Amino acid sequence: MPYKDIEKNREAKRKYQRQHRIQIALSNKEWRKRNPEKVRKYQQTARQKLKMNKERREQDIRNKINAEKYEMFSHYSPDGSVRCMCPGCSENNLAFLQLHHIYNDGGAHRKLLRCNGGIAFYRKLRSQGYPHKENLQIMCGNCNGAIQHYGKCIHETEKSNDKYTYAITEWDW
Ligand SMILES: [Zn+2]
Ligand SMILES: [Zn+2]
Repeated sequence: MPYKDIEKNREAKRKYQRQHRIQIALSNKEWRKRNPEKVRKYQQTARQKLKMNKERREQDIRNKINAEKYEMFSHYSPDGSVRCMCPGCSENNLAFLQLHHIYNDGGAHRKLLRCNGGIAFYRKLRSQGYPHKENLQIMCGNCNGAIQHYGKCIHETEKSNDKYTYAITEWDW
């Protein structure tokens, strides 16, 4: 006899389930045997939900890391704008931006902070209140790479419009 009170009804159901665990498990097992198609469908839905949650979790983590990265860059920007500081470049996509060590002491700095770079490095900087502002500069991967290779960014030394010819004649690739 079902109770009118929802809470009472629920309690009665729980009590029934507690007392009939084995019977319920057996009848569930038999139901699954009779309905393999439905079981497969339920499992599929469950897997899809799990995957969706995983994607959402990963997106949340990416957003959080990007927010931290942005904050860190804004502390190392002379005017607060988060973009590549090479005069010939306007890259402002966070994914391409890095911290450039002006005096080429990135290795020593990572050793000092005891980490290999990436977000761990940025978090260490934050925990120290973003120090060494005069040693660090925001740069995109391209400009940073060019400075590592040639000492100066190609943007700064580029004179010719014919970039390809210029590149192969002036630079020893
Ligand atoms: Zn750049
Ligand atoms: Zn550049």
